[in-house]
Amino acid sequence: MFKKTLGIIGGGQLGSMLAQSAKKLNIKTIVISDDHKAPAKNFADEFIHGKYTNKKIINKFLKKVDIITFEFENIPFNVLHLMNKKVKVLPKPSINKIIQNRYLEKNFVNDLKIKTTKFKYIKSKKDILNNLDLLPGILKTCTLGYDGKGQIVINSLNKIKKLEIDFKKEYILEKKINIKKEVSVIITRFSSKKYEIYEPIENTHKDQILKYSKIPSNINKKIKNQALKYAKIISEKLNYIGTLCVEFFIDKKNNLYVNEIAPRVHNSGHLTINSHNVSQFENHIRAVCKLDKIKTKRIYKARMINLIGNDIRKYRKKKNKKNQFFFDYLKNDIKPKRKMGHVTIIQ
Ligand code: ADP
Ligand code: MG
Repeated sequence: MFKKTLGIIGGGQLGSMLAQSAKKLNIKTIVISDDHKAPAKNFADEFIHGKYTNKKIINKFLKKVDIITFEFENIPFNVLHLMNKKVKVLPKPSINKIIQNRYLEKNFVNDLKIKTTKFKYIKSKKDILNNLDLLPGILKTCTLGYDGKGQIVINSLNKIKKLEIDFKKEYILEKKINIKKEVSVIITRFSSKKYEIYEPIENTHKDQILKYSKIPSNINKKIKNQALKYAKIISEKLNYIGTLCVEFFIDKKNNLYVNEIAPRVHNSGHLTINSHNVSQFENHIRAVCKLDKIKTKRIYKARMINLIGNDIRKYRKKKNKKNQFFFDYLKNDIKPKRKMGHVTIIQ
Protein backbone atom coordinates (compact mmCIF):
# COMPACT_ATOMS: atom_id res chain seq x y z
CA MET A 1 0.00 0.00 0.00
CA PHE A 2 1.07 3.56 -0.75
CA LYS A 3 1.29 5.24 2.66
CA LYS A 4 2.46 8.58 1.36
CA THR A 5 0.76 11.85 0.51
CA LEU A 6 0.06 12.95 -3.05
CA GLY A 7 0.20 16.66 -3.83
CA ILE A 8 -2.02 17.90 -6.66
CA ILE A 9 -1.41 21.28 -8.26
CA GLY A 10 -4.69 22.81 -9.38
CA GLY A 11 -8.12 22.59 -7.82
CA GLY A 12 -10.60 22.41 -10.69
CA GLN A 13 -12.77 19.47 -11.70
CA LEU A 14 -9.77 17.40 -12.82
CA GLY A 15 -8.12 17.91 -9.43
CA SER A 16 -11.41 16.94 -7.75
CA MET A 17 -11.72 13.71 -9.71
CA LEU A 18 -8.06 12.86 -9.11
CA ALA A 19 -8.57 13.37 -5.37
CA GLN A 20 -11.70 11.19 -5.42
CA SER A 21 -9.81 8.41 -7.16
CA ALA A 22 -6.92 8.69 -4.72
CA LYS A 23 -9.35 8.38 -1.82
CA LYS A 24 -10.66 5.14 -3.30
CA LEU A 25 -7.08 3.86 -3.23
CA ASN A 26 -6.55 5.09 0.36
CA ILE A 27 -4.09 7.74 -0.73
CA LYS A 28 -4.07 11.06 1.09
CA THR A 29 -4.19 14.15 -1.12
CA ILE A 30 -3.28 17.79 -0.66
CA VAL A 31 -4.47 20.20 -3.33
CA ILE A 32 -2.81 23.54 -3.90
CA SER A 33 -4.71 26.20 -5.85
CA ASP A 34 -4.63 29.94 -6.42
CA ASP A 35 -8.43 30.00 -6.27
CA HIS A 36 -9.74 30.02 -2.72
CA LYS A 37 -13.08 28.68 -3.94
CA ALA A 38 -11.49 25.82 -5.93
CA PRO A 39 -13.90 22.85 -6.30
CA ALA A 40 -11.26 20.30 -5.28
CA LYS A 41 -11.43 21.77 -1.77
CA ASN A 42 -14.50 19.56 -1.37
CA PHE A 43 -12.65 16.34 -2.20
CA ALA A 44 -9.02 16.64 -1.08
CA ASP A 45 -7.91 15.73 2.42
CA GLU A 46 -6.22 19.09 2.72
CA PHE A 47 -6.34 22.30 0.74
CA ILE A 48 -3.70 25.00 0.45
CA HIS A 49 -4.61 28.33 -1.08
CA GLY A 50 -2.02 30.64 -2.57
CA LYS A 51 -0.15 31.78 -5.64
CA TYR A 52 2.07 29.20 -7.35
CA THR A 53 4.88 31.75 -7.25
CA ASN A 54 4.63 32.38 -3.49
CA LYS A 55 7.70 30.65 -2.01
CA LYS A 56 6.25 30.40 1.49
CA ILE A 57 3.11 28.69 0.23
CA ILE A 58 5.09 26.37 -2.04
CA ASN A 59 7.41 25.37 0.81
CA LYS A 60 4.44 24.61 3.04
CA PHE A 61 3.07 22.36 0.28
CA LEU A 62 6.45 20.69 -0.34
CA LYS A 63 6.88 19.85 3.35
CA LYS A 64 3.61 17.96 3.41
CA VAL A 65 3.76 15.87 0.23
CA ASP A 66 5.80 12.88 -0.99
CA ILE A 67 4.98 13.03 -4.67
CA ILE A 68 3.45 15.75 -6.84
CA THR A 69 1.24 15.72 -9.90
CA PHE A 70 -0.88 18.39 -11.60
CA GLU A 71 -4.28 18.82 -13.18
CA PHE A 72 -3.34 21.44 -15.78
CA GLU A 73 -0.31 22.05 -17.96
CA ASN A 74 -0.02 25.79 -17.67
CA ILE A 75 1.88 25.98 -14.41
CA PRO A 76 5.05 28.01 -15.10
CA PHE A 77 7.87 25.60 -15.93
CA ASN A 78 10.17 27.20 -13.34
CA VAL A 79 7.69 26.55 -10.54
CA LEU A 80 7.47 22.85 -11.45
CA HIS A 81 11.21 22.62 -11.95
CA LEU A 82 11.97 24.09 -8.52
CA MET A 83 9.40 21.85 -6.85
CA ASN A 84 10.87 18.83 -8.61
CA LYS A 85 14.26 19.50 -7.02
CA LYS A 86 12.73 18.79 -3.61
CA VAL A 87 9.81 16.45 -4.29
CA LYS A 88 9.38 14.40 -7.45
CA VAL A 89 6.88 15.84 -9.93
CA LEU A 90 5.23 13.39 -12.33
CA PRO A 91 4.83 13.67 -15.27
CA LYS A 92 8.25 15.30 -15.30
CA PRO A 93 8.34 19.10 -15.78
CA SER A 94 10.49 19.03 -18.95
CA ILE A 95 7.49 17.48 -20.75
CA ASN A 96 5.37 20.46 -19.81
CA LYS A 97 7.89 22.83 -21.27
CA ILE A 98 7.24 21.36 -24.71
CA ILE A 99 3.53 20.80 -24.44
CA GLN A 100 2.56 24.14 -22.91
CA ASN A 101 3.78 25.84 -26.09
CA ARG A 102 1.77 24.99 -29.23
CA TYR A 103 4.70 25.76 -31.52
CA LEU A 104 7.14 23.45 -29.72
CA GLU A 105 4.40 20.84 -29.30
CA LYS A 106 3.57 20.66 -33.01
CA ASN A 107 7.24 20.55 -33.98
CA PHE A 108 7.76 17.73 -31.50
CA VAL A 109 4.91 15.79 -33.12
CA ASN A 110 6.15 16.44 -36.66
CA ASP A 111 9.65 15.29 -35.66
CA LEU A 112 8.06 11.92 -34.87
CA LYS A 113 6.83 11.83 -38.48
CA ILE A 114 3.26 12.32 -37.32
CA LYS A 115 1.10 14.83 -39.15
CA THR A 116 -0.37 17.99 -37.62
CA THR A 117 -2.29 20.69 -39.48
CA LYS A 118 -0.01 23.11 -41.33
CA PHE A 119 1.18 25.96 -39.12
CA LYS A 120 3.64 28.85 -38.94
CA TYR A 121 5.07 30.85 -36.06
CA ILE A 122 3.65 34.38 -36.11
CA LYS A 123 5.06 37.47 -34.48
CA SER A 124 3.65 40.26 -36.63
CA LYS A 125 0.83 41.05 -39.07
CA LYS A 126 3.44 40.85 -41.81
CA ASP A 127 4.04 37.20 -40.89
CA ILE A 128 0.33 36.54 -41.42
CA LEU A 129 0.40 38.31 -44.78
CA ASN A 130 3.38 36.19 -45.79
CA ASN A 131 1.43 33.00 -45.09
CA LEU A 132 -1.84 33.52 -46.89
CA ASP A 133 -1.78 29.89 -48.02
CA LEU A 134 -2.76 29.08 -44.41
CA LEU A 135 -6.13 30.85 -44.79
CA PRO A 136 -8.80 30.13 -43.84
CA GLY A 137 -6.92 29.61 -40.65
CA ILE A 138 -6.91 30.00 -36.89
CA LEU A 139 -4.52 32.25 -35.06
CA LYS A 140 -3.76 30.61 -31.72
CA THR A 141 -1.69 31.91 -28.83
CA CYS A 142 1.33 29.65 -28.30
CA THR A 143 0.66 29.45 -24.59
CA LEU A 144 -2.21 29.47 -22.10
CA GLY A 145 -5.07 28.71 -24.51
CA TYR A 146 -7.87 26.32 -23.54
CA ASP A 147 -11.50 25.75 -24.53
CA GLY A 148 -10.98 27.89 -27.62
CA LYS A 149 -9.66 30.82 -25.59
CA GLY A 150 -6.90 32.79 -27.29
CA GLN A 151 -8.05 31.76 -30.78
CA ILE A 152 -9.02 34.01 -33.67
CA VAL A 153 -10.50 32.57 -36.85
CA ILE A 154 -9.16 34.35 -39.93
CA ASN A 155 -11.16 33.55 -43.02
CA SER A 156 -10.04 36.29 -45.35
CA LEU A 157 -7.44 38.91 -46.08
CA ASN A 158 -10.01 41.56 -45.18
CA LYS A 159 -10.23 40.35 -41.64
CA ILE A 160 -6.48 40.68 -41.08
CA LYS A 161 -6.52 44.43 -41.62
CA LYS A 162 -9.20 44.97 -38.98
CA LEU A 163 -7.64 42.69 -36.40
CA GLU A 164 -6.11 44.10 -33.27
CA ILE A 165 -3.58 41.57 -32.13
CA ASP A 166 -1.44 41.84 -29.02
CA PHE A 167 1.98 40.94 -30.38
CA LYS A 168 3.50 40.93 -26.92
CA LYS A 169 2.23 37.34 -27.07
CA GLU A 170 3.47 34.62 -29.42
CA TYR A 171 1.16 32.96 -31.93
CA ILE A 172 0.90 30.27 -34.51
CA LEU A 173 -1.31 30.49 -37.56
CA GLU A 174 -2.83 27.12 -38.29
CA LYS A 175 -4.62 26.10 -41.45
CA LYS A 176 -8.26 25.27 -40.82
CA ILE A 177 -9.10 21.78 -41.91
CA ASN A 178 -12.38 20.29 -42.96
CA ILE A 179 -12.97 18.10 -39.95
CA LYS A 180 -15.00 14.93 -40.39
CA LYS A 181 -14.48 13.73 -36.86
CA GLU A 182 -12.48 14.43 -33.75
CA VAL A 183 -11.20 11.63 -31.54
CA SER A 184 -8.93 11.41 -28.54
CA VAL A 185 -6.76 8.63 -27.20
CA ILE A 186 -6.06 8.41 -23.50
CA ILE A 187 -3.04 6.42 -22.45
CA THR A 188 -1.52 5.80 -19.03
CA ARG A 189 2.15 4.96 -19.19
CA PHE A 190 3.66 3.20 -16.17
CA SER A 191 7.24 2.60 -17.33
CA SER A 192 9.06 1.64 -20.51
CA LYS A 193 6.53 0.01 -22.90
CA LYS A 194 4.14 -0.64 -19.99
CA TYR A 195 0.85 1.12 -20.38
CA GLU A 196 -2.90 0.90 -20.34
CA ILE A 197 -4.57 2.50 -23.31
CA TYR A 198 -8.22 3.33 -23.87
CA GLU A 199 -9.71 2.87 -27.32
CA PRO A 200 -10.35 6.16 -29.20
CA ILE A 201 -13.14 8.37 -27.85
CA GLU A 202 -15.21 10.36 -30.33
CA ASN A 203 -15.62 14.04 -29.48
CA THR A 204 -17.95 16.79 -30.65
CA HIS A 205 -17.10 20.42 -29.96
CA LYS A 206 -19.42 23.43 -29.93
CA ASP A 207 -17.83 26.89 -30.11
CA GLN A 208 -14.44 25.18 -29.71
CA ILE A 209 -15.51 23.67 -26.36
CA LEU A 210 -15.99 19.93 -25.92
CA LYS A 211 -19.70 19.17 -25.73
CA TYR A 212 -20.13 15.42 -26.30
CA SER A 213 -17.87 12.36 -26.04
CA LYS A 214 -18.64 8.74 -26.76
CA ILE A 215 -16.99 5.38 -26.60
CA PRO A 216 -16.59 3.36 -28.76
CA SER A 217 -15.95 5.84 -31.53
CA ASN A 218 -17.35 5.34 -34.98
CA ILE A 219 -14.11 5.17 -36.98
CA ASN A 220 -12.54 2.53 -39.17
CA LYS A 221 -10.02 0.03 -37.89
CA LYS A 222 -7.10 1.52 -39.78
CA ILE A 223 -7.55 4.98 -38.27
CA LYS A 224 -8.21 3.48 -34.87
CA ASN A 225 -4.94 1.53 -34.93
CA GLN A 226 -3.03 4.50 -36.28
CA ALA A 227 -4.34 6.73 -33.46
CA LEU A 228 -3.43 4.14 -30.81
CA LYS A 229 0.02 3.74 -32.33
CA TYR A 230 0.65 7.49 -32.36
CA ALA A 231 -0.38 7.83 -28.70
CA LYS A 232 2.08 5.07 -27.78
CA ILE A 233 4.90 6.64 -29.80
CA ILE A 234 4.27 10.06 -28.20
CA SER A 235 4.16 8.73 -24.63
CA GLU A 236 7.31 6.62 -25.19
CA LYS A 237 9.22 9.51 -26.71
CA LEU A 238 8.29 11.75 -23.77
CA ASN A 239 9.24 9.00 -21.32
CA TYR A 240 5.93 9.86 -19.77
CA ILE A 241 4.61 8.62 -16.42
CA GLY A 242 0.89 9.05 -15.81
CA THR A 243 -2.18 9.65 -17.94
CA LEU A 244 -1.85 11.59 -21.18
CA CYS A 245 -4.37 12.49 -23.88
CA VAL A 246 -3.77 12.97 -27.58
CA GLU A 247 -6.47 14.89 -29.48
CA PHE A 248 -6.83 14.07 -33.18
CA PHE A 249 -8.60 15.47 -36.22
CA ILE A 250 -9.79 13.24 -39.05
CA ASP A 251 -10.48 15.07 -42.30
CA LYS A 252 -12.90 14.21 -45.10
CA LYS A 253 -10.17 12.21 -46.85
CA ASN A 254 -9.54 10.13 -43.72
CA ASN A 255 -6.21 11.76 -42.93
CA LEU A 256 -5.35 11.61 -39.25
CA TYR A 257 -3.71 14.66 -37.63
CA VAL A 258 -2.59 15.22 -34.08
CA ASN A 259 -4.29 18.39 -32.84
CA GLU A 260 -2.79 18.65 -29.39
CA ILE A 261 -1.43 16.70 -26.46
CA ALA A 262 -2.64 17.13 -22.89
CA PRO A 263 -0.07 15.97 -20.31
CA ARG A 264 -2.82 15.12 -17.85
CA VAL A 265 -6.21 13.53 -17.46
CA HIS A 266 -8.65 14.92 -20.02
CA ASN A 267 -12.29 15.96 -20.27
CA SER A 268 -13.00 13.39 -22.98
CA GLY A 269 -11.94 10.65 -20.54
CA HIS A 270 -14.50 11.46 -17.86
CA LEU A 271 -16.71 8.70 -19.20
CA THR A 272 -14.05 6.12 -18.25
CA ILE A 273 -15.23 6.52 -14.62
CA ASN A 274 -18.40 4.67 -15.62
CA SER A 275 -17.46 2.78 -18.78
CA HIS A 276 -14.28 1.04 -17.58
CA ASN A 277 -13.08 -1.06 -14.66
CA VAL A 278 -10.29 1.50 -14.09
CA SER A 279 -10.81 5.19 -14.90
CA GLN A 280 -8.25 7.55 -16.44
CA PHE A 281 -7.96 9.17 -12.98
CA GLU A 282 -7.30 5.93 -11.12
CA ASN A 283 -4.76 4.88 -13.75
CA HIS A 284 -3.00 8.22 -13.36
CA ILE A 285 -2.79 7.84 -9.58
CA ARG A 286 -1.62 4.23 -9.96
CA ALA A 287 1.15 5.29 -12.36
CA VAL A 288 2.49 8.30 -10.45
CA CYS A 289 2.28 6.53 -7.05
CA LYS A 290 3.81 3.35 -8.51
CA LEU A 291 0.90 1.10 -7.60
CA ASP A 292 0.00 -2.05 -9.51
CA LYS A 293 -1.09 -1.74 -13.10
CA ILE A 294 -4.51 -3.30 -13.61
CA LYS A 295 -5.60 -4.56 -17.01
CA THR A 296 -8.04 -1.88 -18.09
CA LYS A 297 -11.20 -3.02 -19.80
CA ARG A 298 -14.33 -1.41 -21.09
CA ILE A 299 -17.46 -2.70 -19.38
CA TYR A 300 -20.07 -0.45 -20.97
CA LYS A 301 -20.54 1.70 -24.00
CA ALA A 302 -20.93 5.28 -22.84
CA ARG A 303 -21.54 8.84 -23.85
CA MET A 304 -20.85 12.01 -21.95
CA ILE A 305 -22.49 15.41 -22.12
CA ASN A 306 -20.59 18.42 -20.80
CA LEU A 307 -22.79 20.77 -18.82
CA ILE A 308 -21.65 24.23 -19.76
CA GLY A 309 -22.89 27.42 -18.08
CA ASN A 310 -26.61 27.32 -17.40
CA ASP A 311 -26.94 23.67 -18.57
CA ILE A 312 -26.20 22.67 -14.99
CA ARG A 313 -29.38 24.18 -13.51
CA LYS A 314 -31.70 21.58 -15.00
CA TYR A 315 -29.51 18.67 -13.88
CA ARG A 316 -29.26 19.98 -10.32
CA LYS A 317 -33.02 19.53 -10.04
CA LYS A 318 -33.43 16.40 -12.14
CA LYS A 319 -33.62 12.86 -10.86
CA ASN A 320 -31.27 10.66 -12.86
CA LYS A 321 -32.06 7.30 -14.35
CA LYS A 322 -30.12 4.26 -13.23
CA ASN A 323 -27.74 4.42 -16.19
CA GLN A 324 -27.11 8.17 -15.86
CA PHE A 325 -24.31 9.54 -13.71
CA PHE A 326 -24.37 13.23 -12.94
CA PHE A 327 -21.23 15.04 -11.77
CA ASP A 328 -21.57 18.53 -10.33
CA TYR A 329 -18.18 20.26 -10.12
CA LEU A 330 -19.55 22.41 -7.26
CA LYS A 331 -18.31 25.64 -8.76
CA ASN A 332 -19.68 28.65 -6.93
CA ASP A 333 -20.56 30.82 -9.89
CA ILE A 334 -22.29 29.79 -13.07
CA LYS A 335 -20.67 31.54 -16.04
CA PRO A 336 -21.26 31.16 -19.79
CA LYS A 337 -18.75 28.82 -21.49
CA ARG A 338 -17.68 27.49 -18.08
CA LYS A 339 -17.64 23.73 -17.58
CA MET A 340 -19.97 23.24 -14.59
CA GLY A 341 -20.47 19.48 -14.60
CA HIS A 342 -21.07 16.49 -16.84
CA VAL A 343 -23.39 13.58 -17.20
CA THR A 344 -22.38 10.14 -18.39
CA ILE A 345 -24.89 7.70 -19.80
CA ILE A 346 -23.93 4.04 -20.00
CA GLN A 347 -25.44 1.43 -22.25
P1 ADP B 1 -7.91 24.26 -27.03
O1 ADP B 1 -6.54 24.31 -26.43
O2 ADP B 1 -8.71 25.46 -26.73
O3 ADP B 1 -8.60 22.95 -26.77
P2 ADP B 1 -7.71 23.37 -29.80
O4 ADP B 1 -6.56 23.70 -30.69
O5 ADP B 1 -7.84 21.95 -29.36
O6 ADP B 1 -7.63 24.38 -28.58
O7 ADP B 1 -9.03 23.84 -30.51
C1 ADP B 1 -10.32 23.64 -29.98
C2 ADP B 1 -11.26 23.11 -31.05
O8 ADP B 1 -11.35 24.04 -32.14
C3 ADP B 1 -10.79 21.82 -31.69
O9 ADP B 1 -11.12 20.69 -30.91
C4 ADP B 1 -11.54 21.88 -33.03
O10 ADP B 1 -12.91 21.55 -32.88
C5 ADP B 1 -11.43 23.36 -33.40
N1 ADP B 1 -10.20 23.58 -34.19
C6 ADP B 1 -8.98 23.91 -33.71
N2 ADP B 1 -8.04 23.98 -34.67
C7 ADP B 1 -8.66 23.68 -35.82
C8 ADP B 1 -8.23 23.59 -37.20
N3 ADP B 1 -6.96 23.83 -37.56
N4 ADP B 1 -9.15 23.28 -38.12
C9 ADP B 1 -10.44 23.06 -37.78
N5 ADP B 1 -10.91 23.11 -36.51
C10 ADP B 1 -10.05 23.43 -35.53
MG1 MG C 1 -8.16 21.03 -27.51
